[in-house]
Amino acid sequence: MEEFDVIVVGASVAGLRAAEQLAKKGLSVICLDRKQEIGTPKQCGEGLGYGHIKRLHLKPDKRWASQPIKGAALYTPLGKKVEVLYDKVVGYVLERKAFEKHLAKKASKAGAVIRVRSNVSSIKRTKKGIEAQVNDLFSEKYNAKMVFACDGPTSWTANQLGLPIKIKRQDLDSGIQYEMTGIDFPQEHLIHLWFGKNVAPRGYVWLFPKGKNHANVGIGIGAHIKASAKEYLDKWINEKPGIKKGSIIEVNSGVIPVGGLLKKMTADRMIVVGDAAHQVNPIHGGGIGLAMEAADLAAKIARKAFDKKDFSNSVLQEYNSLWWEKTGNKLSRILQIRYMVESMSDKDFENIAESFSAEDIMTLQSGSLAESAKMVSKKLITKPTLMKTMLKYLARGKR
Ligand SMILES: Cc1cc2nc3c(=O)[nH]c(=O)nc-3n(C[C@H](O)[C@H](O)[C@H](O)COP(=O)(O)OP(=O)(O)OC[C@H]3O[C@@H](n4cnc5c(N)ncnc54)[C@H](O)[C@@H]3O)c2cc1C
Repeated sequence: MEEFDVIVVGASVAGLRAAEQLAKKGLSVICLDRKQEIGTPKQCGEGLGYGHIKRLHLKPDKRWASQPIKGAALYTPLGKKVEVLYDKVVGYVLERKAFEKHLAKKASKAGAVIRVRSNVSSIKRTKKGIEAQVNDLFSEKYNAKMVFACDGPTSWTANQLGLPIKIKRQDLDSGIQYEMTGIDFPQEHLIHLWFGKNVAPRGYVWLFPKGKNHANVGIGIGAHIKASAKEYLDKWINEKPGIKKGSIIEVNSGVIPVGGLLKKMTADRMIVVGDAAHQVNPIHGGGIGLAMEAADLAAKIARKAFDKKDFSNSVLQEYNSLWWEKTGNKLSRILQIRYMVESMSDKDFENIAESFSAEDIMTLQSGSLAESAKMVSKKLITKPTLMKTMLKYLARGKR
């Protein structure tokens, strides 16, 4: 039986960042993952916005940040291209396997212990704290004062410890992606996104460049939709000769919680972080940056609990309120916009897309209430037909 201050279940972006931050705050940490290699399998388009990189004080390095991105090209159902280009780098397409290994090295350097092939098969509260049993290649028992549940969508850990985390099928996207090489596409400094009910119902097709003639080509669609994400992606690729001619060198798939934001992400001796707490942007499905920023906040609150020697929910729940204040409310507004957009016909989507520039779309998806309201009201004043279309869908933004 080994003793630590904190057990982190899951050694992906949330867990590794949490382990590093906890160790830097002087706590002893063990970070456990059932996979056999950090970073693998990759279940990710690998896009990460520069805002997150800055807030997380990461220094992009060619080994894990493969392609700088300066904007986006959005394609409407009828094929209209809306392009937004910045004169600076606004994000990166990562090498996620290398990125996670980089995070693991940083956590280890800070003093955290990381173990792979360590499936947490039982976890419970005891009089002293938390007890976790690990089975697989390594078989150990660990004791700790508290646990971080960073174990992905539908967190098994949280459910075991009495915090039921459920998500409706409509709030899940299923994603599939091919890493492709030998393909032709323009502008490798842009990410490319295609929309439309026939292209990707309740989602989009993405092409995230990883250099010349090389990209992640993927799709996310509502998990409740009958046809599979693969069928939609294959159909789309078959219609694009420049993509079809390439080779698939890796297949990635997984589910993305794009709704079901949780009010309660803590319980006695436990904090839930990342996909486990559905901390994902409901429109574009990005969760890397949000998971890591939440891990920073969770580590701060955990440190407070250790200082007070009180690991009860009454101390840990500050994580809920601070996270909602800084991030949750914004994501909630983004979710309302998504509900509105997904109920639109392709024709109305096209009309609305005509009226908004790519910068406007970026403002809407940022979740900034003041900026979005300012921009939308300006449009509505000058375009009465837009007002009519928007009013039709406004009520559908609530669920
Ligand atoms: C197809 C696809 C494309 C995506 N594209 C992007 C993108 O381009 N940009 C972006 O920002 N986000 C993207 N995302 C979302 C992003 O990948 C997630 O938000 C992110 O991985 C969340 O990290 P996490 O650490 O919270 O959880 P996860 O990455 O899900 O990690 C959970 C970890 O817990 C481990 N685990 C689970 N149970 C146990 C157990 N009992 N014992 C031990 N270990 C356990 C798992 O092995 C896993 O390593 C995409 C997701 C998918 C599916």
